[in-house]
Amino acid sequence: MVKHSILSVINFLNLKVPIQVYFVFLEKADLGELRDKIGTNIFLFRIDCFQQVLILIALYLLILHKGRLEKMETELTHEEILRYSRHFPIPEVGLIGQRNLKKSAVLIVGTGGLGSPVALYLAAAGVGKIGIVDFDKVETSNLQRQIIHSSSTIGLSKVLSAKKRMLDLNPDIQVIAYDEPFTSENALRIASEYDVLVDGTDNFPARYLINDVCVILRIPNVYGSIFRFDGQVSTFYAKEGPCYRCLFPEPPPPGLVPSCADAGVLGILPGTIGTIQATETIKLLLGIGSNLVGRLLLYNALDLSFEYINLKKNPNCRICGPNPTINQLIDYEEFCGFPRQVELHSSVDNDSLLTPEDLFKKLTGNKKILLIDIREPFELEISSIKGALHIPYGQLSQRLNELGGEQEIILFCKTGIRSRRALEMLRGAGIRNVKHLDGGINSWAKRIDPNLPIY
Ligand SMILES: [Zn+2]
Repeated sequence: MVKHSILSVINFLNLKVPIQVYFVFLEKADLGELRDKIGTNIFLFRIDCFQQVLILIALYLLILHKGRLEKMETELTHEEILRYSRHFPIPEVGLIGQRNLKKSAVLIVGTGGLGSPVALYLAAAGVGKIGIVDFDKVETSNLQRQIIHSSSTIGLSKVLSAKKRMLDLNPDIQVIAYDEPFTSENALRIASEYDVLVDGTDNFPARYLINDVCVILRIPNVYGSIFRFDGQVSTFYAKEGPCYRCLFPEPPPPGLVPSCADAGVLGILPGTIGTIQATETIKLLLGIGSNLVGRLLLYNALDLSFEYINLKKNPNCRICGPNPTINQLIDYEEFCGFPRQVELHSSVDNDSLLTPEDLFKKLTGNKKILLIDIREPFELEISSIKGALHIPYGQLSQRLNELGGEQEIILFCKTGIRSRRALEMLRGAGIRNVKHLDGGINSWAKRIDPNLPIY
């Protein structure tokens, strides 16, 4: 009886001890026999009546103290009551819901297009602790859609820029800025402090990493992705439904799905998708409504259509299935077929790179060269280098006959990423005398021709 009352107090306190402690009042009890009955991970102590009273008083004080601490932590101040006053008339939220939001913790990975509305709305709603992870700096080209940043924070790290704006919006919350990439090395340590993780990233290695972290930590992953006019949202929560790997066991081949930088994105699209992710997160924290666990929302901005696809748990899923083969975080760059940084440099040696100054010398020299602009037609309207032949990257493999002759071939694109891929492709086709412009036409505009715009 005493033992059970003490045990229930320990359970109530939610003391996370790997070894349980039992106090036995019975003077003549056989401790060895009791240990056999109850289990091995247990300490048994014989105590007398007086000691038992002392222990019960101590536990009572501990409960009282814990209760007070929790109350202090989640009690709303007068300022907060005024701030969140529009939430209180909603029966599903109310004062209790607002206190729950205050004691919740959400991690947002990425403070770009999706992360912007998520971070702003969660901050405004009063989520007590919000972590933000990013390693980029704010650039002018971000501001068409990444509304948490502003012209005055260009050049600043994205997490600091976002933190500044979030605390300006709501100084009563805690914002933890992680100015670092989210990797297999730090992900579990960072995410273990949060109740929900929101995926605001734009690449496959990060998506698989976030999924696996959430499955391992048993927390929901509020996923969103965007492409031109299309967006997707779901909540992957392996405890209650499928995970991202159930849906996409394997990543697409690298380069098959173009990035937002290559394909473009309507600036307002991440606003719609990120706001839906924020809505999902708030509902998960409050435990209200029906969420997107087991459903994928497909949104198209051109038709303004919302469609749902039901998702099923994959019984053979490598991480959340009954026989998982992934039990810890892996190398996600390698899994998605991305070359590591070291390999990236070694596969295309430095001799293949041409600086803008080198290209200028070659263009003004006597030796004949074949300069090829592999960008898309719309990019030519923004900037161009005189004398360049235009062959878009997608047509290069069908137009190899135009590259004949002894002359040196020099490829260029916007930033040097596509031209590196094109160079590898040409070399694979047996064309050896080929180089590419380091940093692309943007670098040329910066260092050689300041009349050209950088985009
Ligand atoms: Zn799964």
